[in-house]
Amino acid sequence: MKLNGIGASPGIAIGNALVVEHSEIVIEKIEEVNVDVELKKLSDAVNVSKEELTKVKEKVARELGEEEAEIFGAHLLVLEDPEFIGEAENKIKNEAINAEYALNDVKEMFVTIFESMDNDYMRERAADIKDVTNRVLRHILGIKVVDLSSLDEEVILVAHDLTPSDTATMDKSKVFGFLTNIGGRTSHTAIMARTLEIAAVVGLNDATEKIEDGDFIIFDGDKGEVLINPEQKIIEEYTEKKKLFEEDKKALELLKGKPSVTIDGKHVELAGNIGTPNDVEGLIKNDAEGVGLYRTEFLYMDSDEFPNEEVQYEAYKAVLEGMNGKPIVIRTLDIGGDKKLSYFEMEEEMNPFLGYRAIRLCLDKTDIFKTQLRALFRSSVHGKLRIMFPMISSLEELLSAKEVCEEVKSELKSEGIAYSNDVEIGMMIEIPSAAIISDVLAKHVDFFSIGTNDLIQYTCAVDRMNQKISNLYNQFNPAVLRLINMVIKNAHKEGKWVGMCGESAGDQKMIPILLGFGLDEFSMSPISILRARRLINSVKESDMKILAEKVLSMSTAKEIEKYMNEFINNR
Ligand code: PEP
Ligand code: MG
Repeated sequence: MKLNGIGASPGIAIGNALVVEHSEIVIEKIEEVNVDVELKKLSDAVNVSKEELTKVKEKVARELGEEEAEIFGAHLLVLEDPEFIGEAENKIKNEAINAEYALNDVKEMFVTIFESMDNDYMRERAADIKDVTNRVLRHILGIKVVDLSSLDEEVILVAHDLTPSDTATMDKSKVFGFLTNIGGRTSHTAIMARTLEIAAVVGLNDATEKIEDGDFIIFDGDKGEVLINPEQKIIEEYTEKKKLFEEDKKALELLKGKPSVTIDGKHVELAGNIGTPNDVEGLIKNDAEGVGLYRTEFLYMDSDEFPNEEVQYEAYKAVLEGMNGKPIVIRTLDIGGDKKLSYFEMEEEMNPFLGYRAIRLCLDKTDIFKTQLRALFRSSVHGKLRIMFPMISSLEELLSAKEVCEEVKSELKSEGIAYSNDVEIGMMIEIPSAAIISDVLAKHVDFFSIGTNDLIQYTCAVDRMNQKISNLYNQFNPAVLRLINMVIKNAHKEGKWVGMCGESAGDQKMIPILLGFGLDEFSMSPISILRARRLINSVKESDMKILAEKVLSMSTAKEIEKYMNEFINNR
């Protein structure tokens, strides 16, 4: 059987499927139950959970070290605490209610108590209680528990979607690939897959239904093709393709340390997009010349509360120091749309992508914004920091955001806290209104970074997550290309540099056009950097200018895409 999805991260993956379901835990109260049956359900589930946790703990201690294993030790302690499980048993006995309801009640009671404590350590324990109780609840309810941090064998993960915490905790050495039902090239699972250098196909609609645990899978993360239990001949063919892919990857290694320059001498900066300080490893491995986009929202999404100034400072410092003085663009909080925080309630909106999000939210809740800016400016003494605001749609917003920066700097100054005076301030161009007035905005920033993921969505009024209309979401749309060209020209007139951190910056068919437009910095998934350098090294800027002119004279995305396909394939 064959499934077709969207190629999201390159590579050929061959292996057995592991289907991960994120069934929600739904708990109903049942009264007048058989108390003995419910007590047994609870103790059986607790025992299985303890066995699992003991195994995971030993494995993690062996493979990653005692410190990493501590979290599982903390989970075991919760289950061994007589007050905790005893409280649930008492509830079952006294109220004659079902085990899952009783346990969930006790969980909520303890979580509330721990969360209200005035001590970071105790507040963190609330997260442990939630995690471990959910494991027991899943066992009581018969929901399959797949522990991604401790996989016994190498697998291809098949899921409806993967959460940031799935990808953060997963044992990457055991995962050959991701297949998901939902998502597009610019959804966060796709971006994460490229960051982790794991092949992926997303937007498969019903992969979790069509694929079963243990099915033998082959997929091509470029083309988006997935083969389920293929015949031997096909397996051999793909094994050969995989070999070629690996060989090409090795050949690219030779470009490490080489300049990103065209034949006729035009230098550009090839930077990487990251989501956490851990991604610095991938940047160094792929010889990134800096960071063009650090999406700080992951720091907020992976937490159970707003990360405080210290936590943020440490994360930003780690990236700045890890990159050894190379320039680092850190984007301020871009939450909202599809990115939610578990601890911050957002009202339901008719159009969340057009709603209360990113800089709009930060300018409204200045306490959240200021905490981040304080951490950013404090970290600026550890490297070359560039701060960037997302979702700016007007000059007023830009000026307000800059004003908050000034306030934060003068507060730090009066507190005697050091910060660098060389921090560059820039903004994303991802909303058409900003692109259209980029001549005005350019006077007030040090740089622009074009966010094509959103710029395409807003210019063409096509939801970037909606598969039904994904044929309309096209980076080659002439309207999008004209806006990009205009932004670059407007910035250059003011002597400002322009980068791009949307996924188009790493796309082989877009790079020649962008070079022709005069883009100064290209920021992409680290995995795409060396391939981009090879392309840039092989062309002349003067030819790309002619190519870009030609592309701008074309009227449809289809025509431009065909032209660029031919250009790349005939090389
Ligand atoms: C963009 O919109 O192009 C971008 C880089 O930001 P994000 O994908 O995080 O919205
Ligand atoms: Mg965006």
